[in-house]
Amino acid sequence: MKILVIGAGASGIMFAISRKRSHPKDEIVVLEHLDKPLKKILATGNGKCNLGNAGSIKDVYNDEFASLIVDKYDFHTQREFIESLNIKTKLIDNLLYPISESAITVRNALLKASEKAGIKIICNEEIDEYVVNDNYIEVFTKSSSYKCDKLVIASGGKSSPKLGSDGSIFNIFKEHRYQIENINPGLCPIYVKEKTKSLDGIRVKADVTLFKNDKKIFTESGEVLFKEHGLSGIVIFNISRIIARELDAKYKISIDLLPSVDAEDLGIFLSFNSPRVLLDSYLNPKLADYIYEKNLKSHTLINEIKGLKFTFDKLYGFEFSQVSVGGISLSNVKDNLESIKEKNVYFLGECLNVDAPCGGYNLMWAFASALHLADHM
Ligand SMILES: Cc1cc2nc3c(=O)[nH]c(=O)nc-3n(C[C@H](O)[C@H](O)[C@H](O)COP(=O)(O)OP(=O)(O)OC[C@H]3O[C@@H](n4cnc5c(N)ncnc54)[C@H](O)[C@@H]3O)c2cc1C
Repeated sequence: MKILVIGAGASGIMFAISRKRSHPKDEIVVLEHLDKPLKKILATGNGKCNLGNAGSIKDVYNDEFASLIVDKYDFHTQREFIESLNIKTKLIDNLLYPISESAITVRNALLKASEKAGIKIICNEEIDEYVVNDNYIEVFTKSSSYKCDKLVIASGGKSSPKLGSDGSIFNIFKEHRYQIENINPGLCPIYVKEKTKSLDGIRVKADVTLFKNDKKIFTESGEVLFKEHGLSGIVIFNISRIIARELDAKYKISIDLLPSVDAEDLGIFLSFNSPRVLLDSYLNPKLADYIYEKNLKSHTLINEIKGLKFTFDKLYGFEFSQVSVGGISLSNVKDNLESIKEKNVYFLGECLNVDAPCGGYNLMWAFASALHLADHM
């Protein structure tokens, strides 16, 4: 059987390796439009590559379809597979990393395993079109054409386009009449309506709550990074993927700047000290100035520290996002990830409408979908 894979990213390469292990006679060719394979992997986890998460996956993915596949090819199965590629791993809290703490280790090991298995990776090949015939599928690139029995599309979403997933292929999906759920940037910073320039660069460990149309819908603890025109940090990234699902709603972000200090204790301190002393005693000086300039009454001052509010304006663009929210509708694929519209065409990874919070879960989906398809093609 001849299998053509579009995209030498996390899911495409993982699929090819796994498939070759179980079906050594299959001929697998991977077409990649960048000049090198696996460029995005090098950028993951700040260059350390957070490969997975040992924690529960309950409520992690946007759709039960993805949870079921990741549950089947779970953390332990994936770790075993990754280790079998000579990537030695370790856990930092629940996060799985290569022991080397370098994404280069992961990229090199995946490429070595591909080469050893006889997988052909052809770079600088951008697909223009594919045609599904009765007995074969033909893929046309700018300079060539390829025939195959099965076509696996692992082209990613639209995030970080410089790393390959520029989304251009979605025009082809539309021509083939696939249903595309709105694609927005996820796991990215957000712009807020308030002026945050004076806070640029400050990091705080905070409890952050997201309100949608005045209703509390999400709370998480973690680091917030203030930016010149908005907010960033892992908690904000996780909030961005929730907002990206429904951009039309009104969102407020409330930040408890002192999660470890009770409002009551602040009240007692304030009964003996001025607001200025309270702010200077507890907060980063720039945050203290920012709140002081609001000229608040004593009782609202504590509410402000325990719930500094920001109004969501818009998401940062795809060039700043780690994942795409949206993609090919999951209703367009069967349980084994084959298209319901076109026989012998399959989809993997982020081009499908699947996303998850930070913490290794997105690579887990890319890998789980790859291992699942390799077993069920
Ligand atoms: C900066 C950054 C950090 C991240 N960190 C983490 C992390 O630590 N942990 C985690 O779990 N997730 C992380 N992610 C998310 C994770 O990298 C992705 O979810 C995952 O790579 C998706 O895998 P994929 O195979 O579906 O797509 P991709 O890895 O994007 O691969 C798609 C491939 O297809 C190629 N391609 C696209 N279109 C075409 C075409 N028309 N013709 C030919 N080739 C094409 C692309 O060039 C690319 O090589 C991060 C993402 C970014 C951007």
